[in-house]
Amino acid sequence: MSDKKHLAVRLERWFEENKRLLPWRETTDPYLIWVSEIILQQTRVAQGLDYYNRFVARFPDVAALADADEDEVLKYWEGLGYYSRARNMHAAARQVMHDFGGRFPDTYEGIRSIKGVGDYTAAAIASFAYGLPHAVVDGNVYRVFSRLFAIDTPIDTTAGHKLFAALADEWLDRRRPDVYNQAVMELGALLCLPRSPQCPVCPLSEWCEAAALGRPEAYPVKQGKSEVRPRYFNYLVIHCDDDVFISRREKRDIWRNLYEFVLIESEGALSMEELQQTASYRSLFDGVEVKVVARPFERRHVLSHRVIHAVFYTLEIDKASPRLASYMRVPFADVKHYAFARLTGLYFDHLGQSSRRPSLDWEE
Ligand code: SF4
Repeated sequence: MSDKKHLAVRLERWFEENKRLLPWRETTDPYLIWVSEIILQQTRVAQGLDYYNRFVARFPDVAALADADEDEVLKYWEGLGYYSRARNMHAAARQVMHDFGGRFPDTYEGIRSIKGVGDYTAAAIASFAYGLPHAVVDGNVYRVFSRLFAIDTPIDTTAGHKLFAALADEWLDRRRPDVYNQAVMELGALLCLPRSPQCPVCPLSEWCEAAALGRPEAYPVKQGKSEVRPRYFNYLVIHCDDDVFISRREKRDIWRNLYEFVLIESEGALSMEELQQTASYRSLFDGVEVKVVARPFERRHVLSHRVIHAVFYTLEIDKASPRLASYMRVPFADVKHYAFARLTGLYFDHLGQSSRRPSLDWEE
């Protein structure tokens, strides 16, 4: 048996004996596999599982998803982050209904043409649902292959992308691409971990050059981290009678189409006094008396390329200013029906799950 076949057999046997039992592994329905893959793109399995179960219970097939309102889809995604995934899926479901007559495409090219589906997801759906010989390349695959062959080429370069795609394709078990692809990724998720890989119990250890060198953690190599840009969000949770003011984020920016409280973004961190001096704050409350009624809630929230420094101020007014007319005025008890970013979810958590009404006993 060649090395290649031997390695694949060993890997697949390990997978069959050690794989986690997950609902999307028990199906060849391309829609369900697609949903799971999109959820798992930026989410850990433990967290993604609940979302997956709830999502497919409400949207069991592509027609159900295409029929839904985007607001409802985003509500089911609330807290998962990277909301463009949900928006793209919703648009893609409509694309499948329109362009493919409601049948999920069954070729790699057809799958790849769906909105929001990149090389990795197309290969995953093509191999898991249809057994097509396309190799997946995700973070786990980069890690496993860079260690197996002690590859110094940075994975975040064009040369790295090409090299690893070629290598993954070369080593793919074309007889069982579905099992093989899942096995490599599962190895990366369970044994070939970023820190402290479990080499002594790894089924590939006899081939692994990085393990032989005694420094598996030196791989994969990355050229450089992208700069993390700080942003400063001052959220004003403005209560008027039993209502608050919210708006939908419409611009091309993070959290598009999610809801939020009144936001003043600033160039740097501001105290309440400094915030009150800004033109944005003054125009919001022109002619209106404002009371700061709860201690500010502060949170540093890390996204992939940004750190959001957020402060939530709870304010109370007795009448709405003209400027606030451009916001949606909704009962505070109903805000849970709108999809907010996880950051605001943390504010709600802070208020307490049972009652989201903040205590009104704090004076600045
Ligand atoms: S031997 Fe260690 S470094 Fe090599 S593939 Fe296995 S777990 Fe990863």
